[in-house]
Amino acid sequence: MRLTENTIPSYCTVLIIGGGPAGSSAATYLAQSGIDAVVLEKSVFPRNQVGESLIPNFWKFSDLLGVSEKIQQEGFVVKSGGIFAWNGQIRQVDFSKFGHSRPGLHVERDIFDDLLLEHAQSCGATVFNQVVVKNVDFSDPLQLRVSFTDKRGEANAEGSIHCEYVIDASGHSSFLAGQLGTRQTVSSNLNFLSIWGYFNNTQYLGVDRQSHTTDYLKVIPPVTFVMSYADGWIWHIVLREKTSVGLVVHTDRTKGMNKAQREAFFKETCLAAPYLNQLLAPGEYIEGSLHYRPDYSYYSTRICSENYYCIGDAAAFVDPIFSHGVQNAFYNANISTLAIKESLKHRRNRGRYSQLCESRMQQFYGFSRALALGDYGCNGVNRALVKPLMKAMPPLELELLFLVSQVTNRSENFTQLARESGVWPDLDPDTSGQGTETIELFL
Ligand SMILES: Cc1cc2nc3c(=O)[nH]c(=O)nc-3n(C[C@H](O)[C@H](O)[C@H](O)COP(=O)(O)OP(=O)(O)OC[C@H]3O[C@@H](n4cnc5c(N)ncnc54)[C@H](O)[C@@H]3O)c2cc1C
Repeated sequence: MRLTENTIPSYCTVLIIGGGPAGSSAATYLAQSGIDAVVLEKSVFPRNQVGESLIPNFWKFSDLLGVSEKIQQEGFVVKSGGIFAWNGQIRQVDFSKFGHSRPGLHVERDIFDDLLLEHAQSCGATVFNQVVVKNVDFSDPLQLRVSFTDKRGEANAEGSIHCEYVIDASGHSSFLAGQLGTRQTVSSNLNFLSIWGYFNNTQYLGVDRQSHTTDYLKVIPPVTFVMSYADGWIWHIVLREKTSVGLVVHTDRTKGMNKAQREAFFKETCLAAPYLNQLLAPGEYIEGSLHYRPDYSYYSTRICSENYYCIGDAAAFVDPIFSHGVQNAFYNANISTLAIKESLKHRRNRGRYSQLCESRMQQFYGFSRALALGDYGCNGVNRALVKPLMKAMPPLELELLFLVSQVTNRSENFTQLARESGVWPDLDPDTSGQGTETIELFL
C-alpha cells in the first residue's frame, strides 16, 4: 500500500529529483542504509514511460534492491532474447547461452516504475508526487538549497528544502545538466529521434521464430523483435495487453511534420515494413497512443561532483537498440549511492569518491555508446576509459557482446575498441554456436 506524506521536510541528507528507475533505486539503497532520502517527483505515479524491454542483467540490481520477488509476482511477460532482422540478415540472440539463468522481461513501464517507487517507500524513503524541482542553489557547497513548486494543492506552492547531496534522476530533461550548462548533443549527424505507439491484438514473434497470437505468450516465450529501417531501426515489444512499436529515425525524416503528419508517417512505415506488417496485420493501432522524443543523443561533460550526482537518463542518453537504459539507471544508482555513503563516513574524501564515480559512469556510457552507434568513435566516447572496461570483462559476457556487436552494423566503434584492446575473441558468429545464429522466420 502506498504511504502518503503531506509535509515536505525542510532538510534531508539526500534529495533525489525524479522517481523513475534511477531515482527510486537510489532512494532504496540510501534508505536501506538508514540515510534519509527524499524523492521529489513531478508527475503522479503510475505515469507512462517508454523502454519496455529489460535485459537479464537487471536482476543483479533488483536482487540488491530486494525487489526481485515483487517483480516476479507481478507476472510481466517473460522473453527469451531477441531477433534482429538487419539489412537482409536475421539473427537470434539467446541470453540463456551466456550464463543468464533468469530471463529478460517485457514490462509495462508505468507498472514497473511504480512498483520500484513503492518499494523505495516501503524501505523508508520519503516520496512526494506532483512536486517539480526548479533550481539547486550551490552557493553553500555543504548545504544545498533545492527550490520546488508543490502542485498538489489547488494553488501551486513554492518551497525549498536543504540537503547535503542532490541526486539528479530527472530523466531526459537532464535537469542539473541544463542548469549547469554541461549538457552536450552527441553529434549533429547522429541526430536521431523516436516515434512510438501501441497496437491491440497483434501477433508476436516467438522463440520458435514463428508468429503467434498473445494467447500463447506463456507457452511460447516471445523475443524482442528489432529490424533495420532506412538509417534507423524499428522495435516490436509485446506486452500483456498491447504491443509497443517504435521507430528510431534520423531527425531529417520528419522535419517540418506536425503531430498528425508524424502519426501518418508512423502508421505508413509500420504497415510497409516486412515482418512487422505481418505481426501487426490482425491488430489495430490504439488511436492517440503516439509519442515522440526528439532530443535523443546527449551526454554531460560532468555528471558527479562533491555534492551532486546525475544518474540514469539525466546523465546521458544512449540509443536504446540494445536495451541498456534501465540497466544503466540501476547501475548508476548503485555506484552513486555507494559514493555518497562512503563520503558521509569520510567527508574529506568526498571529492575523490565523486571522481571515481564519474569515471566509472562515463566508462559505462562510453561502452554502451560504442556498441549502439559506430560513429560515436570521436564524439561522446572516452576511448581511454572504455578499453580497460573491456579488458576487465568476464569472458562469457565479452563473448555475448562480441556476438551482439555482429547482429547490426552499428557496433563498428565497439569492434575497433575491442581489437585495439586485444580482447577481440576468436569466434565466428555463424559457427560458434554460442547463442546467436543466422535464422529464417516463418510468419
Ligand atoms: C524511444 C525509447 C525507447 C527505449 N527503450 C528502452 C528499452 O527497451 N529498454 C531499456 O532498458 N531502456 C529503454 N529506453 C531508455 C529508458 O526508458 C530510460 O533509460 C529509463 O527510463 C531511465 O530511467 P530514469 O529513472 O533515469 O529516467 P525516467 O524513467 O525518465 O524518470 C525520470 C523521472 O523524473 C521526473 N522528473 C523530471 N524532471 C523533474 C523535475 N524537475 N522535478 C521532479 N521530477 C522530475 C519525471 O517525471 C520522471 O518520472 C528507451 C528510451 C527511449 C526514449
